[in-house]
Amino acid sequence: MTSILFCRNCGNLLINNGEDIIECDSCTSKHVATEFDNVVITTRSNKKSFPSKLRLRRSRIKEFDKEESASIKEKCPKCGHEEMNYHTMQLRSADEGQTIFYHCTKCSHKFSINS
Ligand SMILES: [Zn+2]
Ligand SMILES: [Zn+2]
Repeated sequence: MTSILFCRNCGNLLINNGEDIIECDSCTSKHVATEFDNVVITTRSNKKSFPSKLRLRRSRIKEFDKEESASIKEKCPKCGHEEMNYHTMQLRSADEGQTIFYHCTKCSHKFSINS
């Protein structure tokens, strides 16, 4: 059976042709095939099961939100709730100002403002 797996180190695609040890082409780390038993993805499975880099990145952003955001008395333009979470981010160079991201604590509406 041929399975498509993902390197736990770097997320590179690994092809397992039934060997016990799979070596990653990208970071040369070795993986024991049986470690993947619970997460084996066959070529027929749907895209939802892919532990993609995108999903990894998304969960990092969530963590960042939790750490950096603070609440402010600001009216949500969508539901009218009067408390928003916000955090700021420097997107480009320092003299171009920063972007403030608002996030409604009630309806999760999100928007950003460039200052
Ligand atoms: Zn790797
Ligand atoms: Zn809202």
